[in-house]
Amino acid sequence: MTNHSALARSWRPLILKDVIGQELTVKALTNALDHQILHHAYLFTGTRGVGKTSLARILAKSMNCQAGTSANACLNCDSCLSIASGYCMDVIEIDAASRTKVEDTRELLEQTQFHPIKGKYKIFIIDEVHMLSGHSFNALLKTLEEPPAYVKFLLATTELDKVPATIRSRCIHFPLQNISNDILIDYLGKKLKTMNIEFEQPSLNMIAQQAAGSVRDALTLLEKLLLLHPKELKSEAVAKTLGLTGQKNIHDLIFNAMTGRLDALKMIFTELKLNQTNYLALIEQALYFVHQEALKPLSKQQSQFDESFLQLAYDIFIKALENAKFTPNQAINFEMTFLRLTRFTPTVNEQPATAQSNVSNELTHSTWTKLLPNLKLNGMSLALAKALTVISHQAHQLNIQLPPNLKSLANDNTQSNLIKCIQDHGFLVQNLNIQWNEAKHENSQDSDKQNAEALCEQLKNHLKKHPQTSALLQTLQADIDALNLS
Ligand SMILES: [Zn+2]
Repeated sequence: MTNHSALARSWRPLILKDVIGQELTVKALTNALDHQILHHAYLFTGTRGVGKTSLARILAKSMNCQAGTSANACLNCDSCLSIASGYCMDVIEIDAASRTKVEDTRELLEQTQFHPIKGKYKIFIIDEVHMLSGHSFNALLKTLEEPPAYVKFLLATTELDKVPATIRSRCIHFPLQNISNDILIDYLGKKLKTMNIEFEQPSLNMIAQQAAGSVRDALTLLEKLLLLHPKELKSEAVAKTLGLTGQKNIHDLIFNAMTGRLDALKMIFTELKLNQTNYLALIEQALYFVHQEALKPLSKQQSQFDESFLQLAYDIFIKALENAKFTPNQAINFEMTFLRLTRFTPTVNEQPATAQSNVSNELTHSTWTKLLPNLKLNGMSLALAKALTVISHQAHQLNIQLPPNLKSLANDNTQSNLIKCIQDHGFLVQNLNIQWNEAKHENSQDSDKQNAEALCEQLKNHLKKHPQTSALLQTLQADIDALNLS
């Protein structure tokens, strides 16, 4: 098994071009290093784990590489190696959170009078610089204004607004971006491949969502997951470990809310309670799910979910994330959110939630056969419509039976055409459940008969209207309605 220990450390980018998700910063620093246009102070800001200190260390290596200052540090010289190991006399790294006092800062600044030993520059990396006291900032300011030519300051902070404007204005400021999910997913996928670890794509999506833009968080989560699942990351297992529910459960939760299936929701609530669920993360997942479903029409895909419902669900989930700060228990917030969904969806309001109350809008096979001649369908969808037998219609699901030889016709497209068409006739059907079975519903033969009769009627009307036929019929004194055309 590969050694997964401290992935965040071992996968840390070594040179600028390895840094992910910070194109602008990397480009600016590459140009500065390659053209030797170096400022004496840089300030890196951004949320936790986006790579502030990693960038500062890379910059220190690039500045002090004995092979020459460039964006591509050699990584092999004494200077590069000692910076990488954290024991470099020329690079002094401090965490301002533990050195807030002015005495600490003065002590640090005293070292600026000594020239670097191995590299070109004496580099001071001050992490969480916003933690310095007012006096410390004042002490720093003087040196920051006019440092010796061999001194460079690399400051990093998560809280830019706590850094005095006087300090900020003396630094070149690089605001680092949160890493997008797509970039994180791509990055994790590539890393896992190099380690020959199998994975299911949704598992990476879950890690990226949980990491919320932080590479470090993503890697820490991955490390934890690999300890439990060293050979393969399966979506269900990952969901369980992260206290999330799988994509299928998210679908079911939202679908059950939309269709007002309270019993089904109750069962899922119970299951989630037993599984130490991370409710907040689950609401976030639901938010992503709703977004993905809402995007489907843009790529000509049919969503199973009502468009207005998706918009409403989005608002309700956003509100739930806000409410999470005030709730005494995250499970309460979660359950209330999904119950609220069942109350406010347009579909549910029009058609009350229980199956019994949908009876008036239940699609039976005999209703179906009456609808058939009026369906605006053609081609394969029409062929399916004609061949299907309605078995039952419960809470937005239409259970139908089709002969197995039509399997090739029942693709996503034809099924969504059918659903759309059924909905156009006022029936609340969100999905089809197909049983492939040769046996035909007895009503279906009636339907064939009805179809044949309708066709005869059409033909007779056509003949009556046709001038030549009607003249012929008059000559023959024949009554067309008496003809048996079937
Ligand atoms: Zn080097």
